[in-house]
Amino acid sequence: MKKLLLTIIIFLTSLSLFAQSKKIAIVIHGGAGVIKRENMTPEKDKAYREKLDEALNAGYSILENGGTSEEAVISAIMILENSPLFNAGKGAVLTHNEECELDASIMFGKNLNAGAVAGVKTVKNPILAAQAVMHNSKHVMLSGKGADTFAEEQNLELVEANYFITERRHKSLLKAKELEQSQGYIERGNDEGNNNFKYGTVGAVALDQSGNIVAGTSTGGMTNKKYGRVGDSPIIGAGTYANNNTCGISCTGHGEYFIRLGVAKDVSDQMKYQNKSIEEASEHTIQDQLTEIGGTGGLVGLDKDGNIVMEFNTPGMFRGYKKTKETTVVKIYKGE
Ligand code: ASP
Repeated sequence: MKKLLLTIIIFLTSLSLFAQSKKIAIVIHGGAGVIKRENMTPEKDKAYREKLDEALNAGYSILENGGTSEEAVISAIMILENSPLFNAGKGAVLTHNEECELDASIMFGKNLNAGAVAGVKTVKNPILAAQAVMHNSKHVMLSGKGADTFAEEQNLELVEANYFITERRHKSLLKAKELEQSQGYIERGNDEGNNNFKYGTVGAVALDQSGNIVAGTSTGGMTNKKYGRVGDSPIIGAGTYANNNTCGISCTGHGEYFIRLGVAKDVSDQMKYQNKSIEEASEHTIQDQLTEIGGTGGLVGLDKDGNIVMEFNTPGMFRGYKKTKETTVVKIYKGE
């Protein structure tokens, strides 16, 4: 009798552990900013939604088939990097010197392993370079020429620097320079109406069947940025963070503010030290802390139970998530 009871308990425990570890989810963003319905054509609106949908489905199907959260994040981010719609990879914004300098990072929540690149100019998919730094180097971040050289040594696909440049981003740069001349430095977020600093950084966070959380972010940074400027996206703890015990977070917004607050880790820390839920922690970080110091932007994230957050203080954020086969949620504007 005792033996039977023990067998039943073991069976039920393993059943519930199995059910728990089966929870999968992916959440992505494609940048936050002055993104308003009235400034968007129906065609553009549709194109953005379709790309976000494609990225979510690619990531989700990997998770569903037993793939890892790392594979899901990489696949979703690569789709967005390869699309000229977003400010990452092809279609990245231009620096003051009319170049693209790309930043990316990735973090593995199981062992806090992480990799990042800053200011790469020739790597087709910077997120792959960040992943290679995580796995194949002793370092967490490589920057500039050295990061490009490392990517080449890793046999990653390289492209001519002008592969990333699009007409639209070039026009935005010219407009930004014009505004800078006439009005001085333009604070991002105050660019109401003309969208010249339009965002489009991309990021993804996924939870796989083994309960591992991975977060990644990729960006061209900010239009008209100074040579060598590094934003929050490649900085672990600022733009990206993942810890299986708390959450995974990917940010987008005015990087300087995200760095000062250490936004991504701030959310995780509130969960760890104050027992807050991911919803409470994200809301506090974005709506109170970030807003108080004048920063604009947002974040997406998920916790170990697959609870999703998509928090921002701008008029819009390209975003979406998928937790079940049947539904894919994609949103752009505030209040949607
Ligand atoms: N956070 C990025 C940066 O400051 C830009 C963005 O998310 O749009 O480089």
